[in-house]
Amino acid sequence: MFHIPICQHCGYKWGWIEAFFKMFTFKKKLRCLSCNSSQYVSKKSRKQLSLFIFISLLIVPLVSFVVPKGYVLSFEIVAYALVIILMPFLYKLSIKDEPMW
Ligand SMILES: [Zn+2]
Repeated sequence: MFHIPICQHCGYKWGWIEAFFKMFTFKKKLRCLSCNSSQYVSKKSRKQLSLFIFISLLIVPLVSFVVPKGYVLSFEIVAYALVIILMPFLYKLSIKDEPMW
């Protein structure tokens, strides 16, 4: 499930920083820095990504009931940091644009 995005055209491995910043443009179409071809975030990884965000948003409020009060904030910071760190690894690139559903 976790992997570094790889260009489907030239095999160029995207770095974490690249994938991370491209992620925040929220564009479906991404351009490979190496061969300049258009890449799309695959349907499967877009689904995984939204599921991942959904779960993490759900887990944090739940944990605040279990974790002692003083630790909730630090737990949330760690949890969100983990989500942000792992998100670029959920990216899988595809040459074709796939409809979401
Ligand atoms: Zn490429």
